[in-house]
Amino acid sequence: MEKVIISVKDLVKNYGNFEAVRSISFDVFEGEIFGLLGPNGAGKSTTLEIIETLRSKTSGSVSVDGFDLDKQPDEIKKIIGVQLQTSGFYPGLNLLELISMFSGLYNKKVDAIELLKKVNLEDKAKNKSKELSGGQKQRFSIATTLINNPKIIFLDEPTTGLDPQARRNLWNLIREIRNNGTTVIITTHYMDEAEQLCDRIAIMDKGQIIQLASPDKMIDDLVATGFERPKQVKAANLEDVFIHLTGREMRDE
Ligand code: ADP
Repeated sequence: MEKVIISVKDLVKNYGNFEAVRSISFDVFEGEIFGLLGPNGAGKSTTLEIIETLRSKTSGSVSVDGFDLDKQPDEIKKIIGVQLQTSGFYPGLNLLELISMFSGLYNKKVDAIELLKKVNLEDKAKNKSKELSGGQKQRFSIATTLINNPKIIFLDEPTTGLDPQARRNLWNLIREIRNNGTTVIITTHYMDEAEQLCDRIAIMDKGQIIQLASPDKMIDDLVATGFERPKQVKAANLEDVFIHLTGREMRDE
């Protein structure tokens, strides 16, 4: 039996007359990687920011690990990790100094080297954030979500702009975090990423959830309608060629 760790019921968010989130309901299970997909403007960020206690809702209810968003937002803040925008990393500070600054915000003491080890950045501890590659910056930003040892982390398009090797490396990191017991909620525009990584996916469009299931089930359901790809699918794609030629190892070290 799955344990529900996030429960969203009839959530509505209006911006003036505009209905950005139109009464959505869904549950996230403990220990899963849950994907929120949808075109730009679908309402994904709004929904996540409400759950993260960063934005007010118009109506509906949200509970996170049994804490009610309206009554116990501070309890929710303590058990979630939200990815900080890499633009917020002061370029002149090194990674140890940044971790010390962020852990001060959480009022938590952390073993910075241990944290950097988790994201394979211990060698960069004394490097300034401006000296990191794109993949390293993203790994560091994932490390910042783990500072308060959260039960749930929220990752907003964590692999956007990365090369295929760096993306695969990040997928492994996200799987490891999940395997260590943390629930992960992720948004992405990469369908291959969602298919590979997510246990279940909610597809949002125009403020509503139009489907919620595992990637496999969604694909099987589509195939069952008689859908066929217009073009014969080849046994490999261009990304396979790229990885085959350039290898899987990281290049951003
Ligand atoms: P997504 O993350 O799926 O791209 P958002 O949640 O950011 O979608 O936005 C959903 C809709 O709400 C969009 O049409 C966006 O323009 C609108 N919106 C988001 N934030 C605001 C705001 N602060 N004021 C007015 N409209 C907003």
